[in-house]
Amino acid sequence: MIRFENVHKSFGKHEVLKGITAEVDKGQVVCLIGASGSGKSTLLRCVNGLEDYQSGNILIDGERVDAHAASIHNIRTRVAMVFQRFNLFPHMTALQNVMEGPVQVLGEDKAEVRARAEEHLRRVGLADKMNFYPSALSGGQQQRVAIARALAMRPEAILLDEPTSALDPEMVGEVLSVLRDLAEEHMTMLIVTHEIQFAREVASNVFFLDKGLIAEHGAAKDVLVRPQNARTQEFLRRVT
Ligand code: ATP
Ligand code: MG
Repeated sequence: MIRFENVHKSFGKHEVLKGITAEVDKGQVVCLIGASGSGKSTLLRCVNGLEDYQSGNILIDGERVDAHAASIHNIRTRVAMVFQRFNLFPHMTALQNVMEGPVQVLGEDKAEVRARAEEHLRRVGLADKMNFYPSALSGGQQQRVAIARALAMRPEAILLDEPTSALDPEMVGEVLSVLRDLAEEHMTMLIVTHEIQFAREVASNVFFLDKGLIAEHGAAKDVLVRPQNARTQEFLRRVT
């Protein structure tokens, strides 16, 4: 569903992605792990065209991602992004935030979108917060609105960049629990995370990114439990 073929990306002279080849299949939950600066966010941002890349291919069900082509708008409706810092519209309520994409971007019927948006908000445990503005919600609640907003687009896959790292510790659990539910429903997800314990629980597969290259990838139970690569072993020793 998401295929990386020898993807290279530089910022000026600094090569950040040095030939990434990997695949995320439909229904997989892939956790992308690796040290700070290894290129995790950059790789994720390339998937929905928030960054461009210089060579290679990123394919979404066979369609090439090109940040500069008109087709990128369509790709963004198919692959939703959840950011570390939520990025909700501050002047809209939780419900309005969730309705915005389907109504404005997909042009769907407002009453139908509202019913679905309410359902998504209920599902992430926010039935009683629908009419609250982001400023009146906790970080964990805002991140759950952001996940509901992504789901409302009925995406084929969701990209999440450290979805819990901006949260106070007591709010991490409620967001991980929503992601765990989505994983059980086989929502295709590519998740950048430092939560190795969470990755152990929900990831079907793991990519270990080291200095712009995938040093090791495979089934989560292999990469996280019996890593073969010395760099992966060292990284896991350091973070667990
Ligand atoms: P972290 O775990 O700290 O979030 P990361 O693995 O997500 O790290 P990236 O944010 O992808 O790492 O950054 C990879 C490298 O690319 C870093 O050296 C960073 O400084 C550089 N970089 C990222 N964005 C830009 C940019 N817009 N301009 C120049 N360099 C950038
Ligand atoms: Mg990052």
